[in-house]
Amino acid sequence: MLDTWTIGKTNGNAAKTLKPNGLPPLASRCPEKRTIVWVGNVPIGGDASVVIAGPCSVESREQVMDTVYAVKQSGAVMLRGGAYKPRTSPYDFQGLGIDGLKILREAGDAADMPVVTEIMSEEDVELGCEYADMSQVGARNMQNFALHKQLGKTGKPILLKRGASATVKEWLSAAEYVLHGGNENVVLCERGIKTFDNSLRNTLDLAAVALVKEMTHLPVIVDPSHATGKRSIIAATAKAALAVGADGIIVEVHPEPEKAWSDGEQSLTFDNFADLMSSLRTPIRSVYLRQEMAVMA
Ligand code: PEP
Ligand code: MN
Repeated sequence: MLDTWTIGKTNGNAAKTLKPNGLPPLASRCPEKRTIVWVGNVPIGGDASVVIAGPCSVESREQVMDTVYAVKQSGAVMLRGGAYKPRTSPYDFQGLGIDGLKILREAGDAADMPVVTEIMSEEDVELGCEYADMSQVGARNMQNFALHKQLGKTGKPILLKRGASATVKEWLSAAEYVLHGGNENVVLCERGIKTFDNSLRNTLDLAAVALVKEMTHLPVIVDPSHATGKRSIIAATAKAALAVGADGIIVEVHPEPEKAWSDGEQSLTFDNFADLMSSLRTPIRSVYLRQEMAVMA
């Protein structure tokens, strides 16, 4: 069956561009290497997992400044925040734009933390590179190939979120666009997919995280905030993400989630975030082994 994966065949150079198993060559697993993507002084994909935190949207200088110091204090190594917001409704807050980028840069510099922010269109790639250390491609833009081509020309790290309805192959194919453009600094991010179950905002596909770690050499992180939409289960799912091998997590944090201009229900307070960070330090539950019973007997 011809799926979107085989689309390369239509341009006549599939033999050159696709591996025999139909996987994209640049994103595919390479036995000699696992890629570490350096964002400023932060290695993503190395021995230790990383925690990226910050508000869904940049709302004010004070909000971002307060947040960056709070999350740094608890152990986050990078700041996130949206200046351009991909909102489902055109009547929802669309982001502060360039003013938001400036606030993020100021906060990142003040706290000495690299900054990741979403870039939604080709025209904003240059600005994004000027103000942020890493450009996020959001779920709604995962197949915006014009954007990928533009990002491929920059050497800047890219955080490529999985589209809410994208297969793993489509996700890796999107990564291939950036890699093919000459930019090797791609980090994948699982942020939940649409399924039949609507008990949560999305369904967190942790098996896909383990799978892409096996299929590619690229670092993979998890966004439990958008995956669940539910503050109370973010710590549990973040922990599960690290347990399946994610190279890090990206989490939404807000000084006053109940007043957030976007995604308040899934945003952690500073105290929630501190608790999350300490829970990530404790080991996962031990397994009750039969030998233990034998020893006790
Ligand atoms: C976000 O990170 O703020 C965001 C909108 O994420 P996603 O693209 O995963 O929905
Ligand atoms: Mn959000």
